[in-house]
Amino acid sequence: MKLVCPNCEKLELVEPYTHKTTINVKNEPIQVELKLYRCLECGQLIQDPKNPQDELDIAYRIYRQRHHLLQPEEIIAIRKTYDLSQKDLSNLTGIGIATINRYENGSLQNEAHDTILSLLKNPEAVKELLDKNKDKFSEEKIASITKKIYELYKKDSLKNIELIFERYNDKELTGNRPFSLKRLISLISLIANKLKEKNIELTKTKLNKLLFYIDFLSFKQNNCSITGAVYAHLPYGPCLESFDTVISSLVEENILGVKEVIYQDKSYEVLEPLKEPQTDIFNPDELSLIESTIEKLSFLSAKELSEISHKEKAYTATKNGELIEYSFAKYLQGVEDV
Ligand SMILES: [Zn+2]
Repeated sequence: MKLVCPNCEKLELVEPYTHKTTINVKNEPIQVELKLYRCLECGQLIQDPKNPQDELDIAYRIYRQRHHLLQPEEIIAIRKTYDLSQKDLSNLTGIGIATINRYENGSLQNEAHDTILSLLKNPEAVKELLDKNKDKFSEEKIASITKKIYELYKKDSLKNIELIFERYNDKELTGNRPFSLKRLISLISLIANKLKEKNIELTKTKLNKLLFYIDFLSFKQNNCSITGAVYAHLPYGPCLESFDTVISSLVEENILGVKEVIYQDKSYEVLEPLKEPQTDIFNPDELSLIESTIEKLSFLSAKELSEISHKEKAYTATKNGELIEYSFAKYLQGVEDV
């Protein structure tokens, strides 16, 4: 084929040419491959007019993927989920409107901003921010955003869980398994039923820790998680991403019940199974891992479980709010210690 060569200043025969280069993004070298053409006459590299490539843009995309940052189109998608303008998003998050505009157009976001923007995937976080920043919005706007949040909650509460987890397609975060809602529900239901058999109260903290250990132990042993769910470092330990949303959805769908228990003048919530678990979704090896982990950990108090999970490298080596890569599973010690 022929393209206009800027060097020869006329149409010349060109050949496809992969140009490899290294771009430093925040002091990190990123290898970039550009699909270009080369002038057969003078060797000049020429952009494909139909598919011009920006090396910085490509480098940023690779960098974001490596560091689990949102891509520009994901930021736009999150904003549009709630029908927010860039100005609304700025009012909600405190990030300047010009900055949001730059991020949506491909500038590299800083990590603090990325954390805030990622939080907005969860309608609960949007609701909290809206409550805090009510004075910055008109009443109509508050009503319309609230309606969107409500729709997201109600539309299909189980679909909501899928939406949360399907956004993560990074194998390091899902433990080499695409997220499976069926498996997560079956696992939670199995845990709830097993603990009921044993007459052990299932608090939310306990459920959270059991899920973390089961998924990570499965990855440690079989290089694959059980549910494909994502876990984050929260102040009270490793935690299933959007745990509260998951639990309230399961309560709404009558898969779990919540019972209030009063002990020494303090009340706390206990989860109860309302359905039989669907165990045929797990293979025998998985089932035995799940059952033995429950066996080993369910007798510990929520406090003891928290203490153990706080010592895991998956927790000590990650920062608050950060998602936890499954590769930390090889350092798990909690279960062997028990
Ligand atoms: Zn040329």
